[in-house]
Parts: sequence; structure tokens; C-alpha cells
Amino acid sequence: MPITCAPFGSTPTGAAVELYTLTNAAGVEARVATYGGTLVGLLAPDRHGKRADLLLGFDSLAGYLGAHPYFGSLIGRYGNRIARGRFTLNGVPYTLAINNRPNHLHGGPGGFHVALWHAEVQGEQLVLSHHSPAGEEGYPGALSVKVSYSLSDAGELRLDYLATTDAPTVLNLTNHAYFNLAGDGSILGHELQLGAGQFLPVDDAQIPTGELRPVAGTPMDFTAPTLIGANIGADDEQLRGAKGGFDHCWIFGHGGDLGRAVARVREPGSGRVLELFTTQPAVQFYTSNFLDGDLRGKGGQVYQKHGAFCLETQHYPDAPNQPSFPATVLRPGEQYQHTTIYRFSVE
Ligand code: BGC
Repeated sequence: MPITCAPFGSTPTGAAVELYTLTNAAGVEARVATYGGTLVGLLAPDRHGKRADLLLGFDSLAGYLGAHPYFGSLIGRYGNRIARGRFTLNGVPYTLAINNRPNHLHGGPGGFHVALWHAEVQGEQLVLSHHSPAGEEGYPGALSVKVSYSLSDAGELRLDYLATTDAPTVLNLTNHAYFNLAGDGSILGHELQLGAGQFLPVDDAQIPTGELRPVAGTPMDFTAPTLIGANIGADDEQLRGAKGGFDHCWIFGHGGDLGRAVARVREPGSGRVLELFTTQPAVQFYTSNFLDGDLRGKGGQVYQKHGAFCLETQHYPDAPNQPSFPATVLRPGEQYQHTTIYRFSVE
């Protein structure tokens, strides 16, 4: 299917931003802006063929240029939190911006979500590339990043992440799309199944304590299909600490196999289903606990708490400071390579 391109306005410094549209034969459409490499729209039919936009976001570039909680953004260099914005690599201490007191979050204020990505259409793929100079946002190493978006006729929106560096650094790339499979309203009636037997409990600053805790017997257990709202209000210290909802990293028992879904979300009203496949070992499942009706988005919608869910495939938060977690170091000569697929269907 062809990928088309249209102007999407310009940044305050006058740089042109483009909006690319990917369509498939089943009526699924993905829209990607070069500003932030942002997934700004995902239109998909319900079981009666009626399309809705399943992503929170804005109608125009102006919304994305303003403050927002990473709607659809590409996140880098390090998705999720790094405790107190500090880490040491090869004996050298590095200091990052504290943009989520007292921590560093999602690559800092000048992260990849505000970068203007270079776009090129290569066959069926929209290839976005970005060069991040050494020292950008405090991270070592000059980094070359490519993120490719493609959409198959089977309803698979695929993101391929590639990166190389000229000096050792840490890296944890993801996309921060906020999904609502009904198109609006609350996501508490969506049903989630998550192939994860463990999650990372966090301290009161939302930093993993280092423990890998079994989900069994906790509100974090989605190993069988469960309504997101079923236990979200449970009297649980982890849910309370995340402002009344899920905002945690789940560890897959079977990561890395793109042939097997790690998560499945179903919205009974529309029949829409989202399945997630990834090479990453974990996912941050976040239920928009910090949305509070302050933001006016697409079509004037006011975005409320629990109005969307995010499934941010990634490595573990704060891994640069936690030697027991899988390493997130990228060295010269190595290639960072990850893939995440969101498959949209109806039942
Ligand atoms: C974090 C949340 C945060 C949200 C928006 C998620 O990845 O885990 O705590 O509020 O991003 O910044």
C-alpha cells in the first residue's frame, strides 16, 4: 500500500514537519509525524466496519508542540525512569536532567519526542532517522537511530528500532502511544491478557526496588484475560503509589519471539482487539493515571484519568543503576535492534 505525505505545519524555528499516512487493504490507517516520530493517529474498523481513531493526541501540530504526556511519541534515549538522573558507566559518572522529580524520565526534556526526525519512504516502510550528538541530554556517545514504521494487510503496525553509537552508552527505546480501543471513554472495561508472571515493584519515587515479584495473588495478575478495571481500585500499596492505577513494568516469561503475542487487549463493545508482539523483555503497562481532564485533545475531547492505556515495550526501568537487571549498554561496533508489532483485528 502506498505511503503518502502531507505538510503538518512547522516548528517555532520554522522547520517543516511532515505527516505520513500508511494504509492497508483492511481499512487500517496509521499517521506518523516527523516531529517526535509521533504516531498521531491509528484508525481501525470495529466489528461493523465503523472506523475510529484509537489514539489519544491532537488534531494539529500545535498540540504536539505544547506540553503533553508523550502522546504517541518515540521515546529515547532511555524510556522510563533513571533514579535521580544519575548513572555510572565504565567508572565515569553521568548526570541527566531531573524532569520527573526526583528522577530522569523518557530521555529528558530534549529527548527524541521533540526531535525532528528525517523521513524516507523505502518500499513499504517509513524510515525515520535521527542523529543524537554525544552529550545530548547528558548521555555519552554519538548515537545514530533509525525507527521504521510499516503497516501490513494483516493489520500489523510494526516498529523496527536500530541504533549504533561511537562510544559506550545506555539505550532503551520505545513508543508511548495511548490507546483506547473504543475510540473514547474509559478503558476500565477493556480486557487485558499479559503473558508476564512477574512485575517490578517500585518505591515511592516509582523506581524499581530490584525485586521481581510474582503477579500471582496480586492485582497485577493478567495471565488470564481480566478487565483492566477489575482490580484497579484494590487496596494495594503499588496501585496507590502510582496515583490509583497501573504504572509498572511487567517481565515476559517469553520475550523475543515475534511469533507469539505477549499481550492481548479486547474491547467488548467494538470487538476491537490489539495484540502485542515484541523482542523486548518487558513492558510498562500504564493506565493514564496522571491524566486529569486538563488536556483538550482530538475533536475537543477532554482526556480523563483511565482514558487510555499504554503498552511501552522496553528494557527494565533504571537498569543503568541496577546490575541485577539485564544490561542496557550499547557499545561501538554493536547494533541495537528491537521490533514491536501491534496487531489490530476484530472479533
Ligand atoms: C510513566 C508514567 C508517566 C507517563 C507519562 C509512563 O511511561 O511510567 O509514570 O506519567 O509515562 O509521562
